[in-house]
Amino acid sequence: EEDASKLRKKYGIKTSGEDLPLPIGSFEDLVTRFKLNRTLLDNLLKEGFTEPTPIQCEAIPAAMYDRDIIGCAPTGSGKTLAFLIPLVQSLLDFISPKNSVKGKSTKGSGIYGLVVSPTKELAYQIFSELSKIVNGVPGIKVAYLNKSLAAKLRNKVIQSSKFNIIITTPLRLISLVEDDAIDLSHIHHIVLDEADKMFESNFVEQTDRILTACTNPHLRRSIFSATITSSVEEIAQSVMTYPERIIVGHKEA
Ligand code: ADP
Ligand code: MG
Repeated sequence: EEDASKLRKKYGIKTSGEDLPLPIGSFEDLVTRFKLNRTLLDNLLKEGFTEPTPIQCEAIPAAMYDRDIIGCAPTGSGKTLAFLIPLVQSLLDFISPKNSVKGKSTKGSGIYGLVVSPTKELAYQIFSELSKIVNGVPGIKVAYLNKSLAAKLRNKVIQSSKFNIIITTPLRLISLVEDDAIDLSHIHHIVLDEADKMFESNFVEQTDRILTACTNPHLRRSIFSATITSSVEEIAQSVMTYPERIIVGHKEA
């Protein structure tokens, strides 16, 4: 506990919420605490990610405990891996529960994780980062929902259940959901990146439709952004369950 508050102070991290998990001090901590997949850890180190950034220190354990998260940290502070690492590890635990500290027993098929980003460029960047860290990790089937994949799903050339993590922009996803070409009912974790945009007036209706299509009662929701205004936070809080709030630096621009 003492170390945790030191670490939070050192990095200027503010957290709030109930029963906050302790932050990690290194990626190796994830091996001892959550049995982080070895190949995943090796890939992180290979990419030069030797130390977790402040948002990663807090958000990764929170997500591993299945908490809803409101994460706010400056641009370039590593928010992408803050949500991708626990998403991949939770999926691995779900696929092979015997290796998991949680010991889940339900296996089920269908898309497990969904990351929604307001622009194609950002969505593709997330996909690239994810592809690198899951390289050689068995069982992880990632897709970036581009035009060609969308067409194949619509024509039933490919079933959406072939994938377990999907990275997408809102409109492309919604049109597939409405055509019954993609099934979001198995989603366990949804991440809204650049949440300040996702809850802006021109996006909020799309965001709402996506959240409505994720009907799994155990759905966990996370939002990440460089700035989170009070109105965005209010909407986020209204759709979340006891979220852990993690603020690195200043909340508003
Ligand atoms: P944000 O989404 O907060 O703006 P990104 O997730 O895009 O930031 O990360 C910014 C850069 O930092 C990327 O090039 C990413 O690969 C790198 N990065 C992320 N985590 C770490 C880390 N733990 N150590 C070193 N570099 C990192
Ligand atoms: Mg980002």
